[in-house]
Amino acid sequence: MNMIEEKDLFNINIEDLPGLSFNCSCGKKHSVDIEKLVVRTNILDELVKALEPFKKGKLFVVSDSNTYRVLGNRVVNRLQEKGFNYKSFMFEVGENDLIPDMNLVGRLLIELDNDVSIILAVGSGVLNDLSRIVAFRTKIPFAITGTAPSMDGYASVGSPLVVGNKKITFQAKYPYAIFADTSVMKDAPMEMIKAGYGDILGKLTAKADWQLARIMAKEYYCETTAKLVQNAVDKCINSTDGLTCRDEAAIGSLIEALILTGISMGLVGISRPASGTEHQLAHYWEIKAIERGMKHPLHGNAVGTATLITAILYEMIADKLPQGIEYPSSSYVRRLLEKVGAKTNPRELGIDREMFMDGMLNAMYMRDKYTILRFCDEQGKLKKFAATLADRFYGHDGL
Ligand SMILES: [Zn+2]
Ligand SMILES: [Zn+2]
Repeated sequence: MNMIEEKDLFNINIEDLPGLSFNCSCGKKHSVDIEKLVVRTNILDELVKALEPFKKGKLFVVSDSNTYRVLGNRVVNRLQEKGFNYKSFMFEVGENDLIPDMNLVGRLLIELDNDVSIILAVGSGVLNDLSRIVAFRTKIPFAITGTAPSMDGYASVGSPLVVGNKKITFQAKYPYAIFADTSVMKDAPMEMIKAGYGDILGKLTAKADWQLARIMAKEYYCETTAKLVQNAVDKCINSTDGLTCRDEAAIGSLIEALILTGISMGLVGISRPASGTEHQLAHYWEIKAIERGMKHPLHGNAVGTATLITAILYEMIADKLPQGIEYPSSSYVRRLLEKVGAKTNPRELGIDREMFMDGMLNAMYMRDKYTILRFCDEQGKLKKFAATLADRFYGHDGL
């Protein structure tokens, strides 16, 4: 670990963050427990260099038929060229998206040879989650080469999996290394780019909830971590226009903000910097959809819409709020969502009025977390606000 001064944290390039540690004004010592982070265009040279320590054993490269086509094949070719011993395994993706469930975990375990030195996932959310849990349970290191800027789970320690008809987040571990190739990510499906952006907008309301919890529930709060995330989110928002035209620098800001949010959760050991009401609502919708065997939107697409709902809630209860809560205005969130063509109405995500009302009233019980939902409930306003919002999103006027 390299000790640095707290104030210097803000001038450090994201690739130089791994291994750093600092004594924070919040009273804690924070550290970045990732070994290697590469965020740039055309990462293959860096990738093989970083994997050199694992050359004695066999590399297990995991992709799916989509990610193999966009990047996996080039990774495998380069490993071959450089004399690595590897096994490449690819999940076939048909009509339906891959679901990170027990079957896929089992399949990976079966394909995993005894002499594997590192698991290298080439993909985004699902492949990341699958490889993370298998790596954790087998005590084999794992690295991820991202193909889409779709979520903030690259630098995460949790692995959400569908077990039975429930989605459960298992404790796992950080990847040894994260590689993000902006030249590949810029060509990701636009829905995935929008999802990543929605996940980033969620940090605006997550921060407000964290500040609210600090006051109302006397929760621990770290100013420096919150600022680190805010800076990355601001940078990403400032380049919003570049996302829809797939500008590589804008995509770079998006993936940096996503990775940095993951790192920030690792710094404080809680999910507060990254998730609040908007994630409670999105998780509620997702879990109910899984229970009913229905399709559900990408995580970040749901989070984006839920961020707008959360911002409206803050505005509705504004006169009761304690001083100093920095929540975004709903018109600001709406404008940003509209700029990238993301959905602004839960109805467009396939959530019906009943599920919307259920979520508004029950999402706060899913994870023990103080958010604006709990605050509105304590003020005796939650039911009324939920009904008003339902009318607004599902009423005859179509708003
Ligand atoms: Zn701190
Ligand atoms: Zn998220």
